[in-house]
Amino acid sequence: MRGKIIITTKERYELTDITSEVEEIVKNNNLENGIITVFVPHSTAAILLTENEEGLKKDWIDFFKNLVAGKNFLHDRIDNNADSHLLSGLLGQGKVLPVKNKKIVRGTWQNIFLAEFDGPRERSVEVVVIS
Ligand code: ZN
Repeated sequence: MRGKIIITTKERYELTDITSEVEEIVKNNNLENGIITVFVPHSTAAILLTENEEGLKKDWIDFFKNLVAGKNFLHDRIDNNADSHLLSGLLGQGKVLPVKNKKIVRGTWQNIFLAEFDGPRERSVEVVVIS
C-alpha cells in the first residue's frame, strides 16, 4: 500500500506543508493501525516535522541559510549545491509515523513538511503504508 505526492517548488529553500496529502493517502488505503513511512527520494530535499506558522517557517529558512553561509565547500566545484546535500542529509530524507484509529499520531504542532534545498524543482514524496 502506497501513495505518491508531487510538489513543484518555487524557491531554492522552501518549506511545503504536505500533512493533508499524507492524511489523504492514509485514508485512501483504509489504514486503521500501523505505521507510515514518508520518504523523499532526492538528496537535496528532506522531510521535516514542525509547526506551520509563518514566522517559524522563516526562522527555519534563516537558520538553514546561516548554517551554510560563508563556507567553501568542495562539492561546489562540481555543481554548486553542497549546501543542499548537507542540509538534506542533516535533516533526513524520511520519517516514520504511527497511525492509530485511522489517524496519524502527531502533536498539534507537528505538521509534515517537504523541505526543499535546491529548488525550484519537481519533487516526489513516497508514502508507504504498513498495517
Ligand atoms: Zn550535487
